[in-house]
Amino acid sequence: MTDPRRQVPRTDALLVEPPIAEAVERIGRPLVKQAVSAAQQRVREGALDPGRIVEDVVAGLPSSASSLRPVLNATGVLLHTNLGRAPLSDAAVDALAGAAGTSDVELDLAAGARGRRGRGALDALAEAVPDAGGVHVVNNGAAALALAATALAAGREIVIARGEMVEIGDGFRIPDLLVATGARLREVGTTNRVTRADYSGAVGPDTGFVLKVHPSNFVVTGFTSAVPVSDLRELGVPVVADIGSGLLAPHPALPDEPDAATALRQGADLVTASGDKLLGGPQAGLLLGGSELVTRLRRHPLARALRVDKLTLAALEATLRGPATPTAQALAADPGALQRRATALAAELAGQGVDAVAVRSAATVGGGGAPGVELPSAAISLPEGYAAALRGGEPPVLARVERGRCLLDLRALPATSDELLRTAVMAVKVA
Ligand SMILES: *Cc1c(COP(=O)(O)O)cnc(C)c1O
Repeated sequence: MTDPRRQVPRTDALLVEPPIAEAVERIGRPLVKQAVSAAQQRVREGALDPGRIVEDVVAGLPSSASSLRPVLNATGVLLHTNLGRAPLSDAAVDALAGAAGTSDVELDLAAGARGRRGRGALDALAEAVPDAGGVHVVNNGAAALALAATALAAGREIVIARGEMVEIGDGFRIPDLLVATGARLREVGTTNRVTRADYSGAVGPDTGFVLKVHPSNFVVTGFTSAVPVSDLRELGVPVVADIGSGLLAPHPALPDEPDAATALRQGADLVTASGDKLLGGPQAGLLLGGSELVTRLRRHPLARALRVDKLTLAALEATLRGPATPTAQALAADPGALQRRATALAAELAGQGVDAVAVRSAATVGGGGAPGVELPSAAISLPEGYAAALRGGEPPVLARVERGRCLLDLRALPATSDELLRTAVMAVKVA
């Protein structure tokens, strides 16, 4: 009886223990069995009392059947690509949960016949941008560009300024994407300067379209010049504007960030943008433009390979019709209010013996747009060691390390998460 192996409860006996059986229903048998095996191993090693194995299994269970974990974004980068860019509004989350089962995504319930897929989301987008005669939605901004390039310029030329040959991230480059569709690039201008004459000298019978790409993740300053959409329209070929960030109308805090309505009014035939940057919605690629042009894109065979699912359509519609998104709220946050939150949090933490002080900080929009723009913000400054410890906490908190201090920037977090943040800081042990 002293052999610990004899005391290891059997798997089948453990799986019928009520809290474990309930977990099998919730997250599935394989994940529960992994937790059971790990607990049995601890008993075998003598590290766990067999009488406590059920609670040990329960403590070791993952909280959901997906390994993706919610993370608190205290980096001060509003749209952080590694953190899934825009957080969805509660309205969008409700909408996608509602659409997750069987839903009328492609059915006209009144007529009992097939309906236009995603009509609610498409109508909401069309209403949000009345300057667009037609709208379409695909999987992401890159897909929107790929569809435009394939349908309008395969085997032909896309005229693009050298200063707008953008790498979007993780090694993916817009010029490579365009060439992959079978289009040829006709590069004009230099890194810092391009003129209307450069464009008109390059446009010819082989031109599919002129592409204007917003440099959304870098700024070139100094001796520079670019050509606005309003001047490109006179070239007599289609003008496609990739605005990147997905602002549908101008934003007062981001005067240099392009928006769909303005680009269309200036004469762009087609605008492409992402759904999960400044629009604050789900990952999606928006196409807005002339009605005939958009219909052509929508009917292209490739469109079927790029189409979005019901979850995206539901979340996008709720983003467009619902209350201000978390991204919009973070952009509009009052620096004074952020400072008061930081002061209160730091005081509470300091009262518990943590080396915490409130400091001024500068947040950014991130890879999603408005490069170079600093948004005044406030942060809790902690010893540097907190950064790694908080990342390993529950929920994980992502901070920013600056000059040897761990900064928890509040700009990207709603006030409702301050309590979670305080608990997370109190829970970690830093030497
Ligand atoms: C982000 C971005 C893209 C790519 O959009 P995804 O939605 O990430 O595919 C393309 N062009 C510009 C200018 C961008 O900023």
